Amino acid sequence: MSEFQVLIAGAGPTGLVAANILGMFGIRTLLVEANASTVSEPRAVSIDDESLRSMQYLGLIDEVRSHIVPGYGSYYYSASGGCFAKVVPDIMEFGHPRRSAFRQPILEGQLREGLKRFPSVQTRFRTRVHRIIDRGDSVSVELRGEDGNAEMVDARYVAACDGARSGIREGLKIGMSGSTYDQRWLIVDLVGSTDRFRHTRVYCDPARPALALPGPHGTRRYEFMMLPGESAEALVEEKRVRELLARHSAEDAGLEIVRRVVYRFHARIAERWRAGNIFLAGDAAHLTPPFAGQGMNSGVRDAHNLAWKLALALRGELGEGVLDTYESERKAHAWSLIQMAVKMGRVMMPMSPWNASFTQWGFRALSLYPPARDYVMQMKYKPKPRFDDGLVVHGVGAELCGRMFIQPMVETEAVRQVALDDLLGNGFALIELDQPGVDAAPVSTLPLRRIRVIRREERFVAANSAASNSGATCVRDVSGAIERTLSGSGVRAVVLRPDRYVAAGVAIDAAPGETDRVLQAVVALSQRGAPTGVQSAPVDIRVEEWQPGS
Ligand SMILES: Cc1cc2nc3c(=O)[nH]c(=O)nc-3n(C[C@H](O)[C@H](O)[C@H](O)COP(=O)(O)OP(=O)(O)OC[C@H]3O[C@@H](n4cnc5c(N)ncnc54)[C@H](O)[C@@H]3O)c2cc1C
Repeated sequence: MSEFQVLIAGAGPTGLVAANILGMFGIRTLLVEANASTVSEPRAVSIDDESLRSMQYLGLIDEVRSHIVPGYGSYYYSASGGCFAKVVPDIMEFGHPRRSAFRQPILEGQLREGLKRFPSVQTRFRTRVHRIIDRGDSVSVELRGEDGNAEMVDARYVAACDGARSGIREGLKIGMSGSTYDQRWLIVDLVGSTDRFRHTRVYCDPARPALALPGPHGTRRYEFMMLPGESAEALVEEKRVRELLARHSAEDAGLEIVRRVVYRFHARIAERWRAGNIFLAGDAAHLTPPFAGQGMNSGVRDAHNLAWKLALALRGELGEGVLDTYESERKAHAWSLIQMAVKMGRVMMPMSPWNASFTQWGFRALSLYPPARDYVMQMKYKPKPRFDDGLVVHGVGAELCGRMFIQPMVETEAVRQVALDDLLGNGFALIELDQPGVDAAPVSTLPLRRIRVIRREERFVAANSAASNSGATCVRDVSGAIERTLSGSGVRAVVLRPDRYVAAGVAIDAAPGETDRVLQAVVALSQRGAPTGVQSAPVDIRVEEWQPGS
């Protein structure tokens, strides 16, 4: 038996989320990080509703919420200073604001702290993954400490969460497709802001595109596009930075600067996300320009998608074929978000005054037509994941299957309102509308939490007997959202995966016992496919250390 079941390379947000989830399932996990600690430099500043739902899954939402500015939007300004578009989403279909301001170092600290809850997770900082030998049924990993001392450990799988310059991806010779952006951006982080405006200001001025983003605790991020012919060294000089800030705010020009650095952004994706027993996740698998604020969010989605599959395959509750659904489910969506970021970049970085006017008048015209205005305002242009090819039984309830399920507030018998997910546990769940006398038989195929939903006008009493027969928790659908969602798709029940995606639907008129048959179909899906982790000969992967300038 391998010493560890999963070795995670890299304690950025992707690796930390994966480690927390594996810990929740009691999987023996080693998290290895080259640096002495989690990141201290402010990087990502925008966290989306899906990532916050993942934090809720990890049991860390209260801590995370105490350090975010929830629910902020963006105002887009033309060169003359007029606001030509507002994107201020206020829908919370997944139980959290669509976009909130946060600070990556704080979040990483919280995720690292969260690992202390799990005795099955070990961490090793100041340690690099130096070499991996994939033997087909396990991996041997050579670790090197800062002092150069080597140590070999064994694991069943490796999650390569080692960031944009992933030495593991390089060692595996997995190429990246896409493009390297020509534009470089100056990032400036300030503290001490008293500006009360809670939204991002996007200055779509072809002379110097820029953004100003609010953050928690009086922080503020500015991003300025570097112009052709400028030098990065000259641009980061304090005097120059303060001149740029003064164009937008006299107060900000006088604030303390905690960081000024020039980044070059990429729009690229790894050609393969799995090689034998090694899985790429986060920036190791995809790189996006920051205009949509989705780099880390995509990494969190990867970690959530991969970690429960590794856990349930290792526990023998699902077949190993489930691991092949990681790439088939995640890759297309990650690429669609990269493309969205590229398109948003075109709006933010108009190449000429004519180009800027054309786009900005287009937005003004759209705002006259309410459905179009709603589409922009509510960020409906953001592609939602939909798994066509993965651990999803398509057919019944086609509109719901492969999509993230809503998260409304529900009421328990104790008349306490709770967010739906707080009742679902870590594993699979069954959400079913209460139909007295219909299929309340216990299910046996998969361990799962069962939630029986009574309509908002109903009393708890009638449904309780049905619920207790099947071991279900009975909840009242206070907003009516669950009933609308299920009935609208012709289903009486849905099977939710641990990442809150719908794995299958049970038809309204399904025969008794149908729920178990549907669950059997989910398990059967995880058992299909060739075991791609099995190799004929060991594969030796050298993990090169990235050198500046290489
Ligand atoms: C200026 C800027 C603004 C951004 N804004 C946003 C935003 O608003 N929203 C958003 O979602 N994203 C944003 N991002 C992107 C986001 O910061 C990254 O996508 C995110 O940090 C990626 O997380 P990760 O865990 O995949 O990789 P990383 O955070 O890069 O972590 C990888 C870790 O692996 C370690 N490592 C590398 N090699 C090894 C090895 N061989 N052995 C052991 N450890 C190793 C590294 O030391 C590192 O700690 C922004 C990025 C930048 C630069």
